Amino acid sequence: MMDVRKGKFPDSSRVFPGTISGVRWKLLAGLGGLLCMAVLSSAVAPGLSPAAGGISPVYYSRFSVLTSPGPETPSPEAFRLIPRLIHANHKLTRGETVRTLASAYGTDVRSLQSTNANDFVFMRYGLSIRVHNGIGLLYEVTGVNETLNGIASRYAVGRDLKAFKEEIVQENELPPSALLTGYTFKKGDRVHLPGVYLDLDTYRLPFRSFSRISSRFGMRYHPILKRRIFHQGCDIPMPIGTPVYPSRSGRVVFSGWKGGYGNTVEVRHKDGSLCRYGHLSHIYVKAGQTVQRMKTRLGKVGSSGMSTGPHLHFEIITPSGKAVNPLSKIGKR
Ligand SMILES: [Zn+2]
Repeated sequence: MMDVRKGKFPDSSRVFPGTISGVRWKLLAGLGGLLCMAVLSSAVAPGLSPAAGGISPVYYSRFSVLTSPGPETPSPEAFRLIPRLIHANHKLTRGETVRTLASAYGTDVRSLQSTNANDFVFMRYGLSIRVHNGIGLLYEVTGVNETLNGIASRYAVGRDLKAFKEEIVQENELPPSALLTGYTFKKGDRVHLPGVYLDLDTYRLPFRSFSRISSRFGMRYHPILKRRIFHQGCDIPMPIGTPVYPSRSGRVVFSGWKGGYGNTVEVRHKDGSLCRYGHLSHIYVKAGQTVQRMKTRLGKVGSSGMSTGPHLHFEIITPSGKAVNPLSKIGKR
């Protein structure tokens, strides 16, 4: 389901040159569903077949404003068939997965993961997902003076910069002069970066398999201290000896005994955040060692320190030193 009623959609009218403008958008939307499809098909320019996605961009500019405001979202088919970039917010409903969304809108899973900075490890209904057509990252301009050159250089990794800039200009329908004189985007613009995927470097649960959480992040009655205190992480009960893997890649900054945490490993990530793994029965890694997400074994589950039974105490601490709910971070950064 598209999220139109809650007013999330209209920000797609903060369009950049590659996106359908408000008026045309309304028109397109007004057509809706099958009718929309039928009209789109009839709009195919001579020599272009709808199967090839060959809808003439000129077609859209022929529309006048004489259109009734309708539902504001074109069908996913429109996303697939319109050669221009379209993006919108989509609210996840029952039966949908990131895979079905990707194919419905004419993109792929990695593009949606990159655009949303979310690996979608956990999906819940009602989750708002930025959808778009085209393969690659839909970049949101967040700075005030971001230029074509700046963005292209940042994401060109291993590609020819000049060719990449040309692709961006074409894909986003920027004026051709952008290549010669440069181009500065407005804050909030969305830029399609064709073929760009992000290595999201997101968090995972630190086990190969997972059963449940026994104590969540937040205020709780402490079973040993017998009083209410804040639980800075989540407790995952597992049999003694179960291997613990890094939730995210990074460098070990602490390995050893740490008071109530017992045998503990701390891994710092490149953005400065830190994961803490407590109550281990055995530690495999040393401080200074680089560890890879879900590959390097950090240690084994135990019950060392202040613990009532075998479990892993798993904590995520932001670069500013604040503990956050680890479950809210899984699949994200
Ligand atoms: Zn705990």
